[in-house]
Amino acid sequence: MPSVISTKGDYADAQRSSGVVKFTNCLLTKGNELVKEDLWVSSVSGKILNGQEILYEHRTAPEEIVDLGGRILSPGLLDTQLNGAYGFDFSVIPDEGTAAYGKGVLRVNRRLIATGVTSYLPTLTSQPPEVYQKALPFLGASGSARDPSYGSESLGAHCEGPFLSPTKNGIHNASVLRSPVDGISDLSNCYGASNLHPSTIKLVTLAPELQGALPSIQALTSQGIIVSIGHSEATYEEAKVGIKSGASMITHLFNAMRPLHHRNPGIFGLLGTPSSSIQKPHFGIIADGIHLHPTSIKIAWNAHPEGIILVTDAMRLAGMPDGTYDWTNGSRIIKNGALLTLEENGKIAGSSIQLVDCVSNFLNWTGASVPEALKAVTETPARMLGMQDIKGTLKEGADADLVVLELQGGVEGEEKKLVVDEVWKFGIKVFDKSSAQV
Ligand SMILES: [Zn+2]
Repeated sequence: MPSVISTKGDYADAQRSSGVVKFTNCLLTKGNELVKEDLWVSSVSGKILNGQEILYEHRTAPEEIVDLGGRILSPGLLDTQLNGAYGFDFSVIPDEGTAAYGKGVLRVNRRLIATGVTSYLPTLTSQPPEVYQKALPFLGASGSARDPSYGSESLGAHCEGPFLSPTKNGIHNASVLRSPVDGISDLSNCYGASNLHPSTIKLVTLAPELQGALPSIQALTSQGIIVSIGHSEATYEEAKVGIKSGASMITHLFNAMRPLHHRNPGIFGLLGTPSSSIQKPHFGIIADGIHLHPTSIKIAWNAHPEGIILVTDAMRLAGMPDGTYDWTNGSRIIKNGALLTLEENGKIAGSSIQLVDCVSNFLNWTGASVPEALKAVTETPARMLGMQDIKGTLKEGADADLVVLELQGGVEGEEKKLVVDEVWKFGIKVFDKSSAQV
């Protein structure tokens, strides 16, 4: 795993200058197209500029011209479901206490950015209330200082549970699952009242068929917190009522929910509902080659191309070398590439894939174009989060969080692979593959 280059010197230099950077000889992702165009950004404001205005009205010459040699320039990638990485688990408070937890989060942020993920939602699996109340104060939105040296930016936490179906718990501990019988007061008692705002909790995954779930969805969405349906036994009809109550997302579609049945299409059926009837939800897809068959992914994408969001759902062994690691209750996990299996029985224990590799898989499995595939980790998750003018876009005024990508392969049926060459955060280069120690 390459390490992040130091940004301190660059940042100080930028402060002393106009800080205008022009990217040239590059392919910009714009909608479903790759467009050969320049991009202007400010390393002072950390935002994308209007190049025409800078050049013709202010007659400002760029401070720095970056020739990308024909490579792709994309908005930074967004992962809306990441449980941990580099040996750190967002759902575990270390024995040393919350100060060590806070340091662990910062460590993940600094390393994660080298993978091209410039923003993400740190995700907690189902836990007892004391874990949420200790962890959530460290997981809220972290970008207000606009300091690129902090690394990847949390946009707020994703609480995946504990208001989930006990029969669709997946790897979640069933003993901590509960129903929000008393609505928002149950949520408040669990997460902590001071954490129930969108700058700390951005997204909650819950099962809409549980007692008290519908008023809980209404209460959360009225506070600006996004609700996603997941780990659920919901029928199509129950899922539809969940959407009508305000849910706007489906968590890892197909996994931990009823399969599509021709007489009961279940949660998946929401993708086939006419837009005149409900607002079709966005949906997360784990494109790791382990959780889903490629054809299932293609069907979902064809059903609702504007809704697909690729997520890693990766856990704390992401970014770690291959090998055997201690797990819970004396079990051990074998990591072999992205695949994690339990040592005792060979069962799949999760994923440690990187988001850019999910994009490459999606390209190879669906025949999507590069900009279509990148949209599923940039523009679409940003829109799902209500941040479409700030993140996941190259529009003027958005944050200059950028990834330079090289497309390898694709000749004579060869697999395509996107490689992260450079990462820029708030208009400052924070990772360069060519100068990183590997
Ligand atoms: Zn899950």
